[in-house]
Amino acid sequence: MTRAVDPRGGAIERYAVIGHPVAHSLSPVIHRAFADETGEAIDYVARLAPLDGFGASVEAFMAEGGRGLNVTVPFKLEAFDRCTTASVRARAAGAVNCMTATPGGIAGDNTDGIGLVRDLERLGEMHGIPLAGSNVLLAGAGGSARGVIGPLLDAGVARLTLVARDRAKAQALVHSTQSASLVEVSSFDDLGAGHDLVINATSSGLTDASLPIARHILASASLAYDLMYGDRPTRFLIDAQEAGTRVTADGLGMLVEQAAESFAIWRGIRPSTAPVLAMLRATRAAR
Ligand code: NDP
Repeated sequence: MTRAVDPRGGAIERYAVIGHPVAHSLSPVIHRAFADETGEAIDYVARLAPLDGFGASVEAFMAEGGRGLNVTVPFKLEAFDRCTTASVRARAAGAVNCMTATPGGIAGDNTDGIGLVRDLERLGEMHGIPLAGSNVLLAGAGGSARGVIGPLLDAGVARLTLVARDRAKAQALVHSTQSASLVEVSSFDDLGAGHDLVINATSSGLTDASLPIARHILASASLAYDLMYGDRPTRFLIDAQEAGTRVTADGLGMLVEQAAESFAIWRGIRPSTAPVLAMLRATRAAR
């Protein structure tokens, strides 16, 4: 296979985001912006894998000389099983969103949780809402909730409450992250007040559904954060704004931060995230 050559004489190394669907992914735009800023010679594209052909697609990409893959819906769990080694945070999440070709096979990592934490810390600095020492309410018992529990605890939150419509599922999830003694589990009906941050890690935004969180709980929170992002605020963010939550934010910043962590793993250099986030927000506003 002929390898592309960058103007400085080195080989251009190839990366991709793999998913199904994947055409909507912002990852190519984000990584190309990181490459421009850092001067790293990389090519980054979106690759569609058949729903029953994730493993073969990964093998084909790596056989073509691919250096790394970001993994998106619905393959993060399968990616974990396909890796030769997995980082501590990937094992805690039980999922991989960052695969790296190494001489010994594929190394798996999960950058979603640290991406969320970095974005919460950025927002915290901007608005005077420190993450460390805060009381956090996390809604959801799916893959992303599992992946962010460990990083939130590592960031020094004082109290973490997990709420889900299926309490038993939430309980099992907390056990699977080995943090049962550190996380309170609640049903929506039993939810108490006193949360500084309320984080929506459910996919309620896909159906424009409200979460059954009482208005006074949202009103007393300093920050409401939805992992989901899109052209319009989710119902959860609208509910929070109407209840009077001081600051609301979607998950676009998390997306950029998790990408920066992948870039740093692959290239050994950490790109600036603020200009890329500003560029994405400006592009969306112009639509
Ligand atoms: P999963 O499908 O793994 O889990 C979704 C969870 O949401 C389930 O626990 C489900 O409950 C719960 N849920 C769905 N609808 C409702 C509702 N109306 N009320 C209460 N609970 C509900 O999804 P993920 O965890 O992978 O992703 C969740 C969200 O996070 C998605 O919107 C995704 O786009 C976003 N995300 C954003 C990222 C970013 O970089 N910004 C990264 C990763 C995810 P049940 O278990 O009962 O079915």
